[in-house]
Amino acid sequence: MAKILIVEDNALNIKLFCDLLAAHGHQPEAVTDSRNALDVARQFSPDLVITDIQLPHVSGLELIRLLRSDKQLAKVPIMAVTAYAARGDEERIREAGAQAYVSKPISVVKFAQTVDELLPAKDKAEPVIDDFEGWSNEADDSPGPGEAGGEED
Ligand code: MN
Repeated sequence: MAKILIVEDNALNIKLFCDLLAAHGHQPEAVTDSRNALDVARQFSPDLVITDIQLPHVSGLELIRLLRSDKQLAKVPIMAVTAYAARGDEERIREAGAQAYVSKPISVVKFAQTVDELLPAKDKAEPVIDDFEGWSNEADDSPGPGEAGGEED
């Protein structure tokens, strides 16, 4: 389980990313207005930041640089997502300080893989065990210890 901050101005993408991350057992938090992203990131203290590049106000590249120069957040991995993949963009994004780059429209598999690669071992998605007959009788969807409900939206 990882806390993942999403900075994205498109509501459909926010929904898609949040659903995907939640399905992998993560805790997503979305920011629509990139001007608030740094403050939210400081409070949320994410394990990973996923940011769109084409953002009004503070662009994704600017945000990456801001995160990289923030004492608290400088080491948090950043995954950039962009629909606009001109020549040299990936280099610029990586130079700004992002570790990974996924182009839109996203491939669900590639998105999930890249997220997993960027997370420390303790935060990676739990492997899905199908039809494992010897498994205990615990319900698959019971909340784990420390996961008191009440945060559904
Ligand atoms: Mn955008």
